[in-house]
Amino acid sequence: MTYKEVAHTNGYEFTQGGGYELPTYPFVPPPEIGSGAPARHPIVIVGGGITGLTLACSLARLGVPAILIDEDDTVGVKGASSRGICYTQKSLEIFERLGIYEHIAAKGVQWSVGRTYAGHDEVYSFDLRQQGGYRLSQQPPFINIQQFYIEAFLVDRINALGHVQLRWRNRLTAFEQDEHGALLSIETPAGAYQVRAEHVIDATGSASPLRKWLQVPFDSKRGDDRWCIADVRFTTRPPQERHTWIEAPFNENRAVWQHLMGDDVWRIDYQMAPNADPAYVSREDVVRERLARQFGPEVEVEIVWVGPYAYRSECVHAMRHGRVFFMGDSAKVVSPFGARGGNTGVADADNLAWKLAAVMRGRAAPALLESYGDERLEAARENVRVTNRTARFLRPADGIERTYRNAAIALAKRHAFARPLINTGRMAVANPYTRSRACLYGEGSAAGQSVQNVAFAWADGREGRLNQLLDWAAGDLLLLCFGPLSRADRKRLAGLSATAPLRVVQVVGADDAAQCLEHVRDLKGALRDACQAAAGGWALVRPDAYLAAHGRAVNADLVQAIGLALGLTGVNA
Ligand SMILES: Cc1cc2nc3c(=O)[nH]c(=O)nc-3n(C[C@H](O)[C@H](O)[C@H](O)COP(=O)(O)OP(=O)(O)OC[C@H]3O[C@@H](n4cnc5c(N)ncnc54)[C@H](O)[C@@H]3O)c2cc1C
Repeated sequence: MTYKEVAHTNGYEFTQGGGYELPTYPFVPPPEIGSGAPARHPIVIVGGGITGLTLACSLARLGVPAILIDEDDTVGVKGASSRGICYTQKSLEIFERLGIYEHIAAKGVQWSVGRTYAGHDEVYSFDLRQQGGYRLSQQPPFINIQQFYIEAFLVDRINALGHVQLRWRNRLTAFEQDEHGALLSIETPAGAYQVRAEHVIDATGSASPLRKWLQVPFDSKRGDDRWCIADVRFTTRPPQERHTWIEAPFNENRAVWQHLMGDDVWRIDYQMAPNADPAYVSREDVVRERLARQFGPEVEVEIVWVGPYAYRSECVHAMRHGRVFFMGDSAKVVSPFGARGGNTGVADADNLAWKLAAVMRGRAAPALLESYGDERLEAARENVRVTNRTARFLRPADGIERTYRNAAIALAKRHAFARPLINTGRMAVANPYTRSRACLYGEGSAAGQSVQNVAFAWADGREGRLNQLLDWAAGDLLLLCFGPLSRADRKRLAGLSATAPLRVVQVVGADDAAQCLEHVRDLKGALRDACQAAAGGWALVRPDAYLAAHGRAVNADLVQAIGLALGLTGVNA
């Protein structure tokens, strides 16, 4: 079946201000144009937003060929460039592996303190650096940076790595698939062409044409909440912390968010009346008046970009339909509170990339690809659930929801116990996988948890970090063995690594004798903590820095865990 072209909109129609200068990339006529038969490509990624580009970069890093097509010739969304700003520790760890973290850290702004106000009272604050969960990683809890910068860094990196072709101004217009493959029809300024693909990745965002053409079932919920973003430069400098108001006196007691991003630009996000006219609220004089109410009439403001938005939540019922894998906003759409949209798209991409690479390189069974759905659908549902709760707290329905919110605010002003009830967005975390067919869960097991990018010492004393071990493993599984190993264990491990795509590293303490050539020293026990492993035990770490399993002895459990993590064994293999 061939489907008709659909209209696309990105939901942003009004902007004010000088705007951002986005890079543009040249259109290069694809080699297929003019040739009669469709070319074959093992992997075609449709959509070059943050999700598609992360996948492309991950594949390029593992040397897996693919093409990525995007209908646009720039990053961000033309005319609506300002979207995501907060990037989580897990995303930053992924970007470090991909080789763009240093650029992000240099351009972006680190923050860890968040303060929430109701009226003139501070009702809740946190410092993420004081929270145990963030402590172990080499990356900070959050960096704020305009989304299009990350996308541009990814483009440069993909071009430098090779293996993946980026095809700008190439628009998918029709699609069909059968047991032999997928056929994609693509339009370009130089004419139309077709390609055949074994695997198709839908990273086309929330208006996904593939989702419509394939009639993919999904749940959807639309709110009547309205917001208006102002990206501005100031003559004054508010604190670098994340400030949110549930009830801002300067915004008719509606919510306001305030964040610093790259280039000294502040994102001020105002909640509007439900029936607000988007054209009116984003008019320059109206925006200036709003800013003056917040910062005083004397403040000098340069408006960089303004955009009104509404949001909805959506989630597919399955992450895969035949040859098509959905990821990022094409799989689920969440409200922007808690920074879960882009960050979970990045995690989707990181999850599928190593699995696709392992299957394409013959190092894992195709059944492994099914675990993408187990893991990322669980994450998608959790992120939709968490963001929907925030949305209801920020725009409660009249009646019991509003009564509850008023009570929570009143209590939080006076009592610490009520502060966790204040919900202006639960910041995104690395989602755990509790029901994946690729993980081996035992009692009290940490399988399915993300392992942070912790530091250790290399055998020669230099400092290393987990991402470097994953780099060295080059897409294979990484087995960390903590403490001494018997001769029999070493023999078994040598046998395993000779037959499976597995790299083994012994992890010893400061003064212990190493028994394996490949060993590192865990001077402060950070690596063991991050893997939640016991002394004398092992941790099987996947290329996406998730724990496939851990155990105490080099025994049949380890063999089973390796089999599951490669899609070779298991109930559903
Ligand atoms: C106001 C706001 C604030 C936000 N803040 C945050 C935040 O702080 N942190 C965060 O993590 N997330 C945030 N988000 C969410 C985040 O911006 C999105 O989740 C993210 O952009 C989704 O990325 P994506 O790659 O899946 O899709 P998109 O970014 O939408 O990319 C889709 C790509 O597909 C291309 N495309 C579409 N159709 C076709 C076709 N037929 N053929 C070829 N190409 C096609 C498009 O050109 C586009 O490049 C925010 C969103 C908004 C609106």
